Amino acid sequence: MTTQMGEPAPTGESNPLAATSYAAFAPLLRESGCRRCALAATRTNIVVDRGDPTAGIMAVGEGPGEQEDLTGRAFVGRAGRVLDELLSAVGLDPQRHLLIANVVKCRPPGNRVPHAAEVAACIPYLRRQIELVRPHTVLLLGATAYRHFVPTQKSFAMEREVGRRFSLEEWPGIAFYALYHPAYLLRSPGKKPLALGHLENVRGELAAQGRWPA
Ligand code: URA
Repeated sequence: MTTQMGEPAPTGESNPLAATSYAAFAPLLRESGCRRCALAATRTNIVVDRGDPTAGIMAVGEGPGEQEDLTGRAFVGRAGRVLDELLSAVGLDPQRHLLIANVVKCRPPGNRVPHAAEVAACIPYLRRQIELVRPHTVLLLGATAYRHFVPTQKSFAMEREVGRRFSLEEWPGIAFYALYHPAYLLRSPGKKPLALGHLENVRGELAAQGRWPA
């Protein structure tokens, strides 16, 4: 078996997709040297996550930016600071109260939107991540994450989706929320109060179920 890049596919013990615990999955993927798509050629690090995989809440962004690529940690650049600021405002500690991940694990050059082929090659990792973390809540940050989870909706205006909670047959027991991407909030700071309102709503709904961790 070979990958799309013609490399030998990882086998058994070294394949992150075969990991049966998150504790095994994360370092295997980080160290995998994955070459499933062209992003492998320009990345510095494979960025798996940031935060606590046992927390029950996941946030999913688009893909690593420059700082994430350099440090190997998700959302640690300017967009990450906006995200942390919003999470803190609703009482969530980004290190303890959720796990933050991305649709693609390697930085697209110039921070462009990942191509469909790159998403297709990488998405098994996010799926395995969710299967192993078993979150009760997934926060979809921005259109790339939203589009992947709601693929039947070919065209949509993120502006109409944000704040919405929905469930998916494929992922029973998980509440999904569509939220603004923090990089969009950097460009449109006037939307921050609305973004905070969406998170306050998530807090209200989870607190009513006894699932708010803070
Ligand atoms: N933007 C993302 O979508 N993810 C990151 O990790 C950083 C910026």
